[in-house]
Amino acid sequence: MKQRVLVTGGAGFLGSHLCDRLLKEGYAVIAMDNLLTGSVDNIAHLAGRDDFRFIHHDVTNYIYLDGPLYAVAHFASPASPLDYHELPIQTLKVGSLGTHKALGLAKVKNARMVLASTSEVYGDPLVHPQKEDYWGNVNPVGPRGVYDEAKRFAEALTMAYKRYHGVDTKIVRIFNTFGPRMRLRDGRAIPNFMIQALTGKPLTVFGDGRQTRSFCYVDDLVEGIFRLLISDIHGPVNIGNPEEWTVLQMAEAIRDMAGGTQPILHEDLPEDDPKVRQPDVTLAKSLLGWQPRYPVRDGLKATLEYFRQRLA
Ligand code: UDP
Repeated sequence: MKQRVLVTGGAGFLGSHLCDRLLKEGYAVIAMDNLLTGSVDNIAHLAGRDDFRFIHHDVTNYIYLDGPLYAVAHFASPASPLDYHELPIQTLKVGSLGTHKALGLAKVKNARMVLASTSEVYGDPLVHPQKEDYWGNVNPVGPRGVYDEAKRFAEALTMAYKRYHGVDTKIVRIFNTFGPRMRLRDGRAIPNFMIQALTGKPLTVFGDGRQTRSFCYVDDLVEGIFRLLISDIHGPVNIGNPEEWTVLQMAEAIRDMAGGTQPILHEDLPEDDPKVRQPDVTLAKSLLGWQPRYPVRDGLKATLEYFRQRLA
């Protein structure tokens, strides 16, 4: 009998890549998703396999599952600033109520639980790069607060289940990640720039574009998550690529890669947009033997090719 893993948000960008990896490693996978921001297109290639099952369910409601479970990977959440704007209550609910249901299930099944947390717990950081022991600088009442505070609550709840109920929990803090299966209208920087570059539109850079992000290719991220899941480490552990880019550099690199010549159009910087972000991955290196392997430019090429095909 294969060991089973439940992936919430299994039809999403990260969740579906995690499903692929777990299946490759010989686990049976149950993907659960309410398809609010996920899509069955991301898991269509898995349909019909006897080691894969999809359940259409909103994880903020009670989760019932028959039979034993090795792990719960809680990856369900809107994850783009555009989503926080359009789906603020759902974002808060899946991070809080959804994490509660996922932990409750892990507890009754005696399963391990990995929480997909985020670099957003560091907010607009006053410490750079960000180490796991930095507590962050988050505005609870700003537009990003719905995501940041839900994930901070999720981390606190996860630690309470570990301390009080003895659940074998793991927290991964995910930094900006990109790759195939991001949505066309995702709203985040890389998909926006790629669609704009491929359709001949000006690239929308918010503010002066000097704010920084550190972008990780999805396969590297999934490798880190898988290592954490099977480890006896609890975290939180940062997973991300420390290669730091300004947003303007990223826009220009994508435009050049796509062979475009259109101008950069500067738009207003969204409220509370972090000025810098870069993971310190010392902990992941020493505890999990993990480090990013994909050069960002190779990842960008693969992602651009994905969007080219989606647009065709
Ligand atoms: N951004 C931009 N143009 C866009 C989308 C995003 O300049 O069309 C900027 C955004 O203001 C932020 C950075 O790119 O400074 C990364 O934004 P994203 O939405 O990808 O993720 P975040 O790290 O802010 O959650």
